Amino acid sequence: MIIVLKSDATAEQIEHIEKNIREWGLRPHVSKGAERSVIGVIGEESLLANKPFDLFPGVESVMRIQKPYKLVSREFQSKPTKIKIPWGKPGVDPVEIGGKRVVVVAGPCSVEKPEIMLETARYVVAAGGRMIRAGAFKPRTSPYAFQGLGVEGLKILAQVREETGIPFITEVMDTRDVEMVAEVTDVLQIGARNMQNYSLLKAVGRTKTPVLLKRGIAGTIEELLMSAEYIMSQGNEKVILCERGIRTYERATRNTLDLNAVPVLHKLTHLPIAVDPSHGTGAADLVLPMALAGIACGGDMLLVETHPTPQKAVSDGAQTIDEAQFKAMMEGVRGIAAVLGRAV
Ligand code: PEP
Ligand code: MN
Repeated sequence: MIIVLKSDATAEQIEHIEKNIREWGLRPHVSKGAERSVIGVIGEESLLANKPFDLFPGVESVMRIQKPYKLVSREFQSKPTKIKIPWGKPGVDPVEIGGKRVVVVAGPCSVEKPEIMLETARYVVAAGGRMIRAGAFKPRTSPYAFQGLGVEGLKILAQVREETGIPFITEVMDTRDVEMVAEVTDVLQIGARNMQNYSLLKAVGRTKTPVLLKRGIAGTIEELLMSAEYIMSQGNEKVILCERGIRTYERATRNTLDLNAVPVLHKLTHLPIAVDPSHGTGAADLVLPMALAGIACGGDMLLVETHPTPQKAVSDGAQTIDEAQFKAMMEGVRGIAAVLGRAV
């Protein structure tokens, strides 16, 4: 439910409405606009029914949100959400995801030795990347495949940030680890396989750390938005959605990068959208064209796997680009961004 307030609604009137909403067991969410403000009301459908929101002083009109997701919807908030992530060194602009600049985040699939992480971080930043990525806890299809360095991996990422200032994204897979990972990371990643792990979504929703939510391998756009709603409904509004390819009948590529999802999501939600051309294709030589396409269709961020020697990467080597390929990709990304009136 959205309560549209009169342009001259007073602070007392707004407070009075909020108080009543809470007394009904519902949650108010005020968003102040330049011209007028609205109060979104969320909570169980049965509690929302037949409440006389329109009778309160200061109320202009009341609208029902038709979509099953509320907080993530454009109806709820028309202006795009921008998520700021500070750098670990003073004097560097914070990363802003969802703003004018396209943000490139890159790094190996898994956290590797400190020297490799440091070398990668240095060339990523030198070429214009603004954050690094790497998994310490890895969701592998096989229980016999490398499972990640765990806590040791988090320490390496924190050490690289200490030395270079570059913030990082890393995955959390278990509700028991959420607080610990959220403490150290700049952005928590929810991997594709956990898009509908509702306990995990609620747990990251209770933190204040931004969340990169990857689309499930068989997740629809609506299901992705409902998962983001789970996170936001717990109070964490910093969610980035990530298209990373879905499973189709096509086997020429690892997944089918569904770039339709990018403009569709921009219509439906105010949240920033990332594109992952590495998992989306599974092939290093396809990363550049699909990264460019991901920006051309409106992506706000790219999530790319890169490693100084992809042949030696402990996971996802086949889709991992090296430094030269990363530089070439950045050149292209800069060109596309400029055409769109954006920057890198
Ligand atoms: C990853 O980012 O390395 C990863 C495991 O991604 P996904 O969850 O999209 O497969
Ligand atoms: Mn990977």
